[in-house]
Amino acid sequence: MTHSQLALNGGSKAKQTPYTREKRYGAEELKELQEALEQGTLFYAHGTKVKQLEAEFAEKNGVPYAVTCTSGTAGIHAALIAVGISPNDEVITSPITDMGTLSPILYQGAVPIFADLHPHTYTLLPESVEACITSRTKAIIAVNLAGNACDLDALREICDRHKLWLIEDCAQTFGCRYKGRPIGTTGDIGCFSFNEFKHISCGDGGITITRNPELAERLRLSTDKAYSRRPDVLERRPIFLANNYRMTELQGAVALAQLRKLDSIISRRQAWCNELTKRLKGLPGLCLPEIAEGVEPSWWFYIMRVDEERMGVDTDTFAKALQAEGLPIGAHYIGKCVYEYPLFTNKSAFDHAPHPCDTYDYHAGMCPNAEAILNTCLLLTVNEAYTQTDLDDTVEGIRKVVSAYTE
Ligand SMILES: *Cc1c(COP(=O)(O)O)cnc(C)c1O
Repeated sequence: MTHSQLALNGGSKAKQTPYTREKRYGAEELKELQEALEQGTLFYAHGTKVKQLEAEFAEKNGVPYAVTCTSGTAGIHAALIAVGISPNDEVITSPITDMGTLSPILYQGAVPIFADLHPHTYTLLPESVEACITSRTKAIIAVNLAGNACDLDALREICDRHKLWLIEDCAQTFGCRYKGRPIGTTGDIGCFSFNEFKHISCGDGGITITRNPELAERLRLSTDKAYSRRPDVLERRPIFLANNYRMTELQGAVALAQLRKLDSIISRRQAWCNELTKRLKGLPGLCLPEIAEGVEPSWWFYIMRVDEERMGVDTDTFAKALQAEGLPIGAHYIGKCVYEYPLFTNKSAFDHAPHPCDTYDYHAGMCPNAEAILNTCLLLTVNEAYTQTDLDDTVEGIRKVVSAYTE
């Protein structure tokens, strides 16, 4: 393969037909929605859809409690309120994540502390987490990235030893399993997102799971202004600060129909990505995602890295060449580690009063592995509808570009 055969340089594209997609929402969602409307109430505490969704999600994960909310962000916020995170507490988390992991920490007046990542699983390094622990540390939010699980047993052990809460951010990992256990059940609370871009969706929504009855009660209150909806509690007497993060029956109805499609969505993604990994193995200059022993990822994205020296080209050029071949690939994911966001570096979280995080020094270089990941990573969009042809064309496109640059 020569440079002139690359689509980037006018050659023919490896991917000639569009990637297969299917309609996300259909008759199942409509049926649930219609039933929800016919109840005559869209309030979760009076209807059946949200309750059913919570019951089925808890059952699916083998836990006694699931509590819905309005988003993945709201779920993490409810989890932090439930475990009692308060101003000046420190919460250790990942430098590669969504703002939805961080804004709840900041709204509690707490301070995010960033531990470094494993270079090829892209998840928290337990030894780096442990090195971040101080007398102010109260919790770890383990971000299970792109469908892959953190080293959860190691994080659990650290939390038990230091008496910290372990919260799992599972927004990208519906359906992932860790040593046979559903994701989100090793932590004290697991938090999931139903936003439009996740494995299953109701437009926007979230759900949390726990085994702990006290946490379950506090999670419920944390999503509903700390108002109790128990029939035996008639007076409104909020005993802590909580927002309105209530899921409506409309969201619950759609999420319920989507939940029943989850197994099929996950198994198709797994089959496609496992085959992709098999066929890309051994290509020079390409670092495939590493899956730890006992982890069954659910593949939200497929993240690879470019070994620029071995590939003989920089990540941006390599990504452009793949895009020119017609592959759904982007470079650098979120671009920079979250601690480089202006709200941290400019100390501008709040408008004219300091936030506790303003006294911390956030700067480039804090987490070298995470920064290297972002500098050289490629994200391949994955969809459960992708076919064998989509797979063959993807492999051919990647092989073609790798061979042009490495031969
Ligand atoms: C999507 C996402 C969130 C936030 O979920 P929303 O439903 O968009 O609020 C949080 N954490 C991670 C890792 C995510 O990918």
